[in-house]
This record gives sequence, C-alpha cells and structure tokens, in this order.
Amino acid sequence: MKIAVVGTGYVGLVTGTCLAESGNDVVCVDNNAAKIAVLQEGRLPIYEPGLQELVQRNCREGRLRFTTDLGEAVAEARLIFVAVGTPPTADGSADLSAVFAVTEAVGRLVNGLPVCPWEPRILVVKSTVPVGTNARLTARLAELGCAQRLEVASNPEFLKEGAAVEDFMKPDRVVVGVRRGEVAEVLRELYAPFLRTDRPFLVMSPESAEMTKYVANAMLATKISFINEMANLCDRLGADIQDVRRGIGHDQRIGFQFLFPGPGYGGSCFPKDVQAIIAMGRQTGCPMHLMQAVDTVNNAQKQILFRKMLAHYQGRLQGLTVAIWGLAFKPRTDDIREAPSLVLIDALLQQGVQLRVHDPEAMRNVQTLYGQRLYYARNPYDAVQGADALVVVTEWAEFRNPDFALIRQLMKGHVIFDGRNIFEPRTVETLGFTYYGIGRGRRLNLPDNVTPSTQ
Ligand code: NAD
Repeated sequence: MKIAVVGTGYVGLVTGTCLAESGNDVVCVDNNAAKIAVLQEGRLPIYEPGLQELVQRNCREGRLRFTTDLGEAVAEARLIFVAVGTPPTADGSADLSAVFAVTEAVGRLVNGLPVCPWEPRILVVKSTVPVGTNARLTARLAELGCAQRLEVASNPEFLKEGAAVEDFMKPDRVVVGVRRGEVAEVLRELYAPFLRTDRPFLVMSPESAEMTKYVANAMLATKISFINEMANLCDRLGADIQDVRRGIGHDQRIGFQFLFPGPGYGGSCFPKDVQAIIAMGRQTGCPMHLMQAVDTVNNAQKQILFRKMLAHYQGRLQGLTVAIWGLAFKPRTDDIREAPSLVLIDALLQQGVQLRVHDPEAMRNVQTLYGQRLYYARNPYDAVQGADALVVVTEWAEFRNPDFALIRQLMKGHVIFDGRNIFEPRTVETLGFTYYGIGRGRRLNLPDNVTPSTQ
C-alpha cells in the first residue's frame, strides 16, 4: 500500500519504518526541515534500539522516503497516518492544533487531486487525542467538502520508547476505531503481517479507541504512583518494598509488572495523558479524583531523591559534588521529556551543587538544556571522580553491576542514592557505602521540615 506518515517523531518514524519493512511504500513527512535533512542523510534524529538499521535498509530498497512536502506524500497515498505531537495546554487538555492543521492541509490537498480508484483515502490518527476528536475532524473535513473522499480512522499507538520497533512489529493488540467496516478491513490487511501470532485486531467505535489509549496510560501511571506511595511508607516504617513486591506479586490478581518504585514517571506520554484525562473529566462534569491523586503523587515523587539528599546532608548541599547516572526518562531512549533527572538537576543546581552527569544516549539532549552548567562525563566512572555522592536516576543495564571497589576509590564521599533500587543495600554497605534506595526501609528522617541551607 502507498502510505504517508505525517509527523516523523518517535511514533511517526517507527510507524513509517515498520510499515515499509512489511513491504509498503512509505513517505514520512515533517515540517521540521532539520529533522528531515538528518534522515535524508541516513542518520537518525532520535535514539531507538534497532531503528537505524531498519531505516537505512528500507531507504536503500526504495520503500521509505523523507520529505517536508506534504503534497508529494499525500498525492498517491491510500492511507495517511497522523503522528504529530499533542502536548498539554495550560489547563492540561491536549493541544490539537497540529492534528487539525495536518487534517485541514490533507483535506485541501485531496480536494485539489483528481478522484482516484483507491478512494476514500483514510486519515489514520495515531496521535493520542481526546475522545471526540475523530468526530470533530470528520466534521471539519465535511466543512471543507471532502468527507466523501477522506475517512477518519482512530488507531492509537501503544509502543514503548526503548522497545518501540519490537512493540510495533509484535504488538500485544491493534486497536482501530472506525465508522465503517470497509475501513477496518483495509487496516486489518495492513496490520496482518504484524499479527501473525494470533494477536487481536480489535475494531470498535472511534470514541472507544480514543478512550482506550488514555485508559491504558492512566492504568500504568496509577500502578507507578501506587507503588511509589507504598514505598515511601515502607521508608517510614522500616519495611523493604522489594520484599513487599515479592509478597504481593505472586498473587495473580496483582502480578509483578509495572510495580517498580522509583523517582516518579516521566516521558512524553504519562504526565500529559493523565492531565488530559483529568481535563476530559472536568469538561464533562465527571471529576477524576483518582487521576488527580496519581498526578499529585507523581509530582511529589520527582522530589524524592532531592529530599533524601537534603535529609542526609541535613540541608547543607552547597559545595557538594554529585554524580548522576541516567538522565533519560527511562533506559534505552534518549528522550528526556518530563524526566525526573531534570527536576533533580534543577534542585541541586539551585543549591550550588556541582554536577557530573552521565547517560549512554541522552547527553546531547541534556546539554542542549543546561550547556556548561553541568560536567558531561565520558562514562559512569568519570562521573563519580571526586564526587561526594552518586545518584542513580535511570536504570540503564550498564549501571547494574559496576566495579564498586573502583567507585569507592574514585569518590570523595561514599553515599549512594539509588533511585531505581538496582543495587542490593547489604552488598553496597558491606563495601563501605551509605545506601539509600526507594522504600528500602532506611529510617531517614525524611522530613517535609528539612529546608535547604544556602550556607
Ligand atoms: P514527537 O514530538 O517525537 O514527534 C512529533 C513530530 O511531529 C515532530 O517531529 C514534529 O516536528 C512533527 N510535526 C508537528 N507539527 C507538524 C505538522 N504540522 N506537519 C508535519 N509535522 C509536524 O512526538 P511523539 O513522541 O512521536 O508523539 C506523537 C504522538 O503519539 C503524541 O500524540 C503522543 O502522545 C503519541 N504517542 C507517543 C508515544 C511515545 O512513546 N512517544 C507512544 C504512543 C503514542
């Protein structure tokens, strides 16, 4: 099939590339000319495991192209995917300006093209959009006079950054929201190569498809805030959340997945989608008390490492040198949107702390934000040189089993704040470190009442 993908970010680039890999003829469009230029040179503007090789192969074989020219991409396309951003507005609701701009531009282009045998074309909305957006886009296309020639389908994306190619190639399920069965059949054909192992292709109304995406993210964000809150209580009571996890996870109604305590969720999806669902509730008179709490808990959790440091150093952080391992919002990505590391960096810089940071992939993005204010270490050991404390913020695999003897030698102080519980407290303490995890039962006086000292 001939396909256009509009918006060549994390979702659009993975979607376009994987659809090309299954034999389709794909043109990816973006209005960011610098991004398209990088892609045309065979490089990637983002880090995503396994993606570069796929992009290069499909470009070489002529199934994948990149352009800033929407007209060129739409001319032949039977399916036009929309994968532009939907960031939060000031009141938390999703900003749909890019989705509408693309839909209107596509509608006008189609109006100017001769009618072709594969019409109606299908505008497939992959961006995460509030419930009712499909209907609003359909109404807008009707106003533009092209509702008969362009059908809107909803097809939320569930891929995870860091495993996006794998997730797209072998999805748990594909959800499509359509008004006509024929549209679902075109999409079923498109996705058939990815659903060989009996993974379900779920057809529903556009409203249910749009809602499904928000409910999925709301559930996952809730699990994270739940376990974080329990971990904080463990810290106060002297229980170890790792043991508690084991204690609850074997109950099959609960399970182990997505119940890892940490410094709060980040990324471009959970924070904004939780806010958007709260906004949808507000707009429809259905208060989202639980989602509000999930958001509040998460915002507080992003302060947890800083608060533990304040408590350990009794409010006197100025002049310390701190190493940070992990900056991306999660491992195997370079994405730092809403990352907990940024909250910690801001707080520590404000206290006059010298920071030595390291991340396998996200350094360039962090450097764009902080410039010379941080030291960008070549590797984890370079980061800990002369440091008073080490803070683990992102659990990259290479941080899990380091040479602690070398770290002890290189560091000035010997305190570890493990924001992901990747180390075993007893092992690390035996090696001469003071250890703080999340919910490991350290009886730190984690006070709301310790205020930073500026002396
Ligand atoms: P992104 O910011 O990485 O990419 C969006 C791209 O759209 C950018 O390259 C931008 O330049 C481009 N763009 C914006 N306006 C445009 C226009 N008018 N014409 C052409 N291009 C335009 O965003 P993303 O992370 O890929 O997310 C895209 C959507 O997918 C969002 O709605 C997001 O919620 C959803 N989503 C994201 C993920 C994820 O893990 N990142 C997962 C599932 C769903």
